[in-house]
Amino acid sequence: MEFHGSFSVKSKLPNRIKKLKEVAYNLWWCWNHRAELLFSKIDDKLWKEFDRNPVKLLSKVDQERLNKLASDNQFLVEYDQVISEFNDYLTTDDTWFKDVSPQWSEDEVIAYFSTEFGFHESIPIYSGGLGVLAGDHCKSASDLGLPLIGVGLLYHEGYFKQRITDKGWQESLYPTLDETYLPITAVQDQEGNDLKVSVKLANREVLIKIWRLNVGRIKVFLLDTNIAENSSQDRELTSRLYGGGEETRISQEIILGIGGTKGLAALGYDPVVWHMNEGHSVYLGLERIEELMTEESLSFTEALEVVAASSVFTTHTPVPAGNEVFPFELKEKYFSEYWKRIGLTKEEFMNLGCVYDMEKDDGFCLTVLALRLARFNNGVSKLHGEVSSQMWEDIWEGIPTDENPIDAITNGIHTLTWLAPAWEELLDQYLPSDWRKRIEDKKMWQQVRNIPNKEFWQVHNQLKSKLIDYVREKDLARRKRYNTLAKLDNNLLDKDKLTIGFARRFATYKRATLIFADLDRLNKICNKTGKEVQFIFAGKAHPADVPGQELIKKIHEISQSEEFKGKVIILEDYDMNLARYLIQGVDIWLNNPRRPLEASGTSGQKVAANAGLNFSVLDGWWCEGYNKKNGWAIGYEIEYDDQEKQDQIDSNSLYQVLEEEIVPLYYDNISQGIANDWIASMKEAMISNISVYSTDRMVQEYTKKLYLPAVKRKNEVEANEYALAKELVNWKEDLKENWEELKIKVRNKEKKEVYKVEDNINFSIEVDLASLELDDIDVELYIVAEKLEQPQIFVMDLEEKVSDNIYKYSLTLELSQLVGSGDYKYTFRVIPQDELLTTKHELGLIKWI
Ligand SMILES: *Cc1c(COP(=O)(O)O)cnc(C)c1O
Repeated sequence: MEFHGSFSVKSKLPNRIKKLKEVAYNLWWCWNHRAELLFSKIDDKLWKEFDRNPVKLLSKVDQERLNKLASDNQFLVEYDQVISEFNDYLTTDDTWFKDVSPQWSEDEVIAYFSTEFGFHESIPIYSGGLGVLAGDHCKSASDLGLPLIGVGLLYHEGYFKQRITDKGWQESLYPTLDETYLPITAVQDQEGNDLKVSVKLANREVLIKIWRLNVGRIKVFLLDTNIAENSSQDRELTSRLYGGGEETRISQEIILGIGGTKGLAALGYDPVVWHMNEGHSVYLGLERIEELMTEESLSFTEALEVVAASSVFTTHTPVPAGNEVFPFELKEKYFSEYWKRIGLTKEEFMNLGCVYDMEKDDGFCLTVLALRLARFNNGVSKLHGEVSSQMWEDIWEGIPTDENPIDAITNGIHTLTWLAPAWEELLDQYLPSDWRKRIEDKKMWQQVRNIPNKEFWQVHNQLKSKLIDYVREKDLARRKRYNTLAKLDNNLLDKDKLTIGFARRFATYKRATLIFADLDRLNKICNKTGKEVQFIFAGKAHPADVPGQELIKKIHEISQSEEFKGKVIILEDYDMNLARYLIQGVDIWLNNPRRPLEASGTSGQKVAANAGLNFSVLDGWWCEGYNKKNGWAIGYEIEYDDQEKQDQIDSNSLYQVLEEEIVPLYYDNISQGIANDWIASMKEAMISNISVYSTDRMVQEYTKKLYLPAVKRKNEVEANEYALAKELVNWKEDLKENWEELKIKVRNKEKKEVYKVEDNINFSIEVDLASLELDDIDVELYIVAEKLEQPQIFVMDLEEKVSDNIYKYSLTLELSQLVGSGDYKYTFRVIPQDELLTTKHELGLIKWI
């Protein structure tokens, strides 16, 4: 039958428990276990059925049930406690940020833009690591009291839900989200109408509606084009995350960057810092430039200086697919009006997104534009910071790679989101009562050593058993769908056996099938009587990524084979819910990307927080997190040119460590049912990683290294009607024009001398400034040595004027400042003097002798 329309009837919360609605509309509940438990007590079955979505639960649960709870004393005690904790959380003034920045005024906000946010499985507007990181960033920002607001898109069909057929092929499903059951509220204007802003997409106007989502103390605004005023084609623009082709992508990015910037203004915000989480939101910089040019009469370059001074850009991956490049023609379609309005030529505009220029580059790269529009850039682990500096080194031509202005802040996780409640309860007994507020306190975690091994092991095994029950349940559902799947004689998985988890996006560089390189050898490992090893796999491949989908098929096929059935499992639809079961329940987390392509990775951090052991390639965060006692390394800390060789070496290392170290540690030396050595490693994993790899530590680092310096810089360039910005532009132009003529006077190469460690050396050099001024430049002595990790740089002193424009610089170097005995090499260079600059090398000018 065809129906004409639909309506829903919602239950009404009795007065005594009416504040449940406020909690349901604030994601605070999803990292406060007591609140989560309270919702599940309303109706546990519905709670699970609705993906733990409290808004839907409260709307759909029977009215009688609610009425009954409103007079259930036990429930009310728990309710009152949750409400009181919730109110305290929202109103307290006692936060980390207040301490570090007491002068901060109320209306100053940090805007955080991201194309995906992973807060909870009931709001599926994330695909994987990037989104979960953004969600965790917001949660910690809330906990720490940061004045941050988020900006993202509301995807009506979210990211796809995955099925794996009986042949092993991935199918993607796109159920439509019902916004009436999401914890979001439409923002209204003063007349009580939905607030809307518009953006121009090629030759048409598209209207955007704005939703508010509460995440603890902070707000996230989600943009949405699915409204009646838009054409049906434009209504689809925000329907799927990473769906559609290039035109959809560019449109979504314009909506996010330009629409988001306009939206914040319409909401009355004037952010002091603009953080681009990945390049997708980079057009916010273009929008701000145009605003500054029209409203403050700045030139393009002046406006760019102002925008860059308050912009932070985080790059998240060295993989090409993550660094989007658009054809110039497509950019022209969407930006030809724009570049005219800001007075640039097509070429000048396009070059902003080119490493070199339109002639040499293949297209317009968002990462390049972002690096040019932000003075505060970072990668997401130490290694990734270095890799990014290398990848983009030609943007700062001539500058030594290690001095490129790309910093590194290693990712973390929002600990309370990922730590199992069972661990929380145990920690409540053995740690100081305020441990939740001191996650980054390294020393406190030493007390985990005092927990008796028996209790520690019990908690882990309880979580492992929960995981295996869940896997069986999920697998059963799939078996019911496809009765052609291999029959099992026994149960799927054994609760007493060593269990290894592998779940992540099925991108080929993550090498999901590396463990299957030698099936005979693996068979021996998996099926050794009494010492069996079992594997659980999960992950989605992007619907357009066929090689990724083939990996899924291969694992599926192995899982159906006689040798591995019941021992190798592949689960459908990896999301935050499945992730929680896996990372809390496995003994070992396997990760074998092709180094150095994993920028950071965070799932292994979730495992370590839950005392699981990482077994991973030394890439991303594990390069820093591994201490030889808290898990295992696969392969070596080197990069290979030959991928096949790299795969072979890594898989060999994988088997060897499994056979010789992991399996014996797990199964040997058991005393009274407890593997004490294994537990020692588990404790070490928790103690050494949990405080460091938390978003509390990470957001604190972002605040100190990037946000606060950006605010300071913004105030400087904007003061006195943008005086510094204007001066800076003139000075930079001047410098660029005259740099060529600058000369360091060549001298004869000096003979190698031998010194003693307590000696001093006098260096001197003459510089011909040509038409530059003395305070335009710094002259530096640059020293390298084998023992030095990084070159040592010393600014030289001006000694005297030699003749017109020629100056002598000198430096007395105390050799005790270096690293002792050994061979050193040195040279001299001139760089722009950095007092006016935000970062030393932003001009990319340098002159070596
Ligand atoms: C944490 C998480 C990720 C990120 O994991 P990686 O280690 O970066 O692969 C991806 N997907 C989900 C659902 C997660 O919870």
